[in-house]
Amino acid sequence: MSDDQVKDATQFEFKAQVQQVLDLVINSLYTHSEIFLRELVSNASDALDKARVLRLTREGLAEQQGEPAIEIELDAKARTLTIADNGIGMTREEAIDQLGTIARSGTTDFLKKMEGLGKHEGAESAIDLIGQFGVGFYSAFMVASRVDVQTRSMLPGAEPVLWRSGGKGSFAVLPGEREAPGTRVTVHLKEDADEFCHDWRVEAVVKKYSDFVTYPIRLGGKVINRAAAPWRLPKAQLSLQEHGEFFKHLTGARLGDEPLVTVHYAVDAPVQFHALLYVPPRATPDLFLLGRERPGLRLYARRVLIMESCESLTPGYLRFLRGVVDSEDIPLNVSRETVQEDKAVRQIEAQLTKQVLKALKELSEQDADRYEKFWRAMGPILKEGLATDWKNKDAIAELCRFESLQGGPGKLVGLGDYLAAKPESQKAIYYLTGTDRKGIERSPHLEIFRQRGIDVLLLADPIDEWVASALPEFEKVPLVSVAHGELDLGGEKPAAGETEDKRTDAAVKAIRLALGDRVDEVRPSTRLTDSACCLVSKTGDPGANLDRLMKMLDEKAVEHRRILEVNPNHPLIKNAAALAERDPGSSHLQLWAELLFDQALLAEGVVADPAKLVSRIQDLLVQVSSAVVGGNGDGQAH
Ligand code: ADP
Ligand code: MG
Repeated sequence: MSDDQVKDATQFEFKAQVQQVLDLVINSLYTHSEIFLRELVSNASDALDKARVLRLTREGLAEQQGEPAIEIELDAKARTLTIADNGIGMTREEAIDQLGTIARSGTTDFLKKMEGLGKHEGAESAIDLIGQFGVGFYSAFMVASRVDVQTRSMLPGAEPVLWRSGGKGSFAVLPGEREAPGTRVTVHLKEDADEFCHDWRVEAVVKKYSDFVTYPIRLGGKVINRAAAPWRLPKAQLSLQEHGEFFKHLTGARLGDEPLVTVHYAVDAPVQFHALLYVPPRATPDLFLLGRERPGLRLYARRVLIMESCESLTPGYLRFLRGVVDSEDIPLNVSRETVQEDKAVRQIEAQLTKQVLKALKELSEQDADRYEKFWRAMGPILKEGLATDWKNKDAIAELCRFESLQGGPGKLVGLGDYLAAKPESQKAIYYLTGTDRKGIERSPHLEIFRQRGIDVLLLADPIDEWVASALPEFEKVPLVSVAHGELDLGGEKPAAGETEDKRTDAAVKAIRLALGDRVDEVRPSTRLTDSACCLVSKTGDPGANLDRLMKMLDEKAVEHRRILEVNPNHPLIKNAAALAERDPGSSHLQLWAELLFDQALLAEGVVADPAKLVSRIQDLLVQVSSAVVGGNGDGQAH
C-alpha cells in the first residue's frame, strides 16, 4: 500500500494524553528501547490467549488457522521488524479504541508519575511504569518511524483493517489486507534502531524477556523461546531469575520484577493439579475495592487456558496471589457460572490455601525481613481470613503481626512472640484498637499497662476490630480488649480505706445521676493512673471505633452505651466525692460530670457537641476565676 492512499483514509488524532505518553515513553526510554519487543510479543501472546477463551465460550467462530504461534520476520533491506500472531485480532472499532484513544484511567496517573521523576531515576522507573499502566503498545515508537498494524478480528463478519501511525499526533485507519483472523504489527525501524533487524539481537531479547511465553515464537522458522509451561516443570528446574521472568510475564511487569514468595507444587490426589503461585511485592488498589472484580489465578484445564482470572481458586483473603493452576480434572467446558460449584475446583482451593499458608509460615521462620515485607504489603488482606475462614483460623493467626506498646513504632510482633515474652502470671493477650498508633498511644486505657510494663497490641487498621473480635483466643490464651469490660490484671488492688471507697461511691452515684442514660454505668476504674476517667465498652459489645464506623455507614445504627470509669485517686474525683458527700444535689457536680464525660470522649478524639462543650468550659472558668478573685485561690471544692 502506498503512502498516497493514506491521505484518503480516515485520519484520527491521538487523544492528548496518549500523545503525551508517547512523547514521554520515547524520550525517557530510548536507552532501554529493546523492551518494545517484550511488549509486542506480550500483546501477541495475550491475543492468542483471548482467542482460545473466546472459542471456548462462543459458538460460530472460525476454526483456529494453524497452530497458535507468534512469528517474527526481519527485513534488513526494508529495515522492518514484523510480529505476527493468529490470535483474536481487532475490529475496526477496537483498533481505533485500543491503539489510539485509550480511555485507561491509568494514563493520567502514568503521566503524573513520569513528570515527577527526575532525569536520572528516569529510565528504570519508567520501564516499571510502562508495565504498570499498560502503555506497552506505544513503546514501539521508541524504535519506529512508523508502525503498521494489519489485523482482522475473529468475530464473524469482521473486515480486515490497517492501522498506521508515525507516532506524531495522528493515526490512520484503512481497509486492510488479511484473510485469516490475527494481527501483524510491522515496525519500520528508525535509523538508529537497525540493530533490531538482526537475528542475533532479536533472539537474545526474546530469550531475555519472553522465554516463558507459552506459545512458540518463531524467527526464521526456528522456535527461539522455551515455550514450555513452566508450572509443569519440576520445581528444581526453575531458577529465581526464571521465576522473575515468568512473574513479569504473568503480571505484565505491573507489580515489580520479582515475587516476594513463590509456591510451586503438584498434587495427584484427591485431585490432580499443578500450581505455580506468586505473592507480588506490592498490593494494588483494586485489591481493596469492594464490589470490583478481584484478581484471580489463571486456570488451565489440560494445558488449555480456560479462564484468565478465576476467583474461585483462592479464598478472598488470598486474593493477592498471582499465578497459574493447571488441572487434568477440570472439565474444559467449565464456565464462570459453573466453576464455583465444580468439585475439583473446591478441592483445589482447599489445597492451595493450606499450601500457601504453610509457605508463608516457613518464610516467617526462615526470613523475618522478607516476611515483614510481605506482611506490610498483604497483611491487611490476609487478616480477613481470621473472620472468614474458621478452618484455617489458627494457621492465619500465627501469621499475623501487630505493633505493640512495648515494641515501639514500626516494630511488629506476632501473637506467638507476645506469648513468649509475657510473664507467666499474665492471663491474657491485651490489645487496643484505634485509627492510628499516635491516637491509640494517647488513650487513657493504657495507663495501668504502662505503669506495670505489660505489653498491649496496638491495632490501628480499620478492620482490626472486626478481626480481633473473630479471634477470641490464641493458643488457649484469651485476647482481651483493654477498652472493654472489667480489667483483672491480677496482683494487689491499689489500697484504699473504707471511707475512701464510700466517698468514691458517692461520687459515682452523683455522676451517674447527672449523665443519665448516656452511659450504661459509672464505676471506679482499675486501669487509670493519671487520667480522671475513661469510657469502656461492655464485654461483647463492638468497640467505639466500630460503632462510629457503623454510624457513619448507617445513621440508624445503634450506638452501644458505654461505661464511664473514674479514677478514685484523681484529685478531681476526690473533690467530687467530697462534694457529693456533703451536698449530693450540687449543681457543680452536674457540670463536672458533663465535663468528665466530654473529656473521656475528647481523649478518643471525639467531640460530640462542640458548642455545648465550649459553654461548659466557660461556666467552669467563671467559677474558677470567681474563686480566684474571691481569694479562694486553690479553686478546689472541699
Ligand atoms: P495492554 O496490553 O496492557 O492492554 P497495550 O498498549 O500493550 O496495553 O495494548 C493495547 C491494546 O491493544 C491491547 O489491550 C489489545 O486490546 C490491543 N492489541 C495490541 N496488540 C494486539 C494484538 N496483537 N492482537 C489483538 N489486540 C492487540
Ligand atoms: Mg500489552
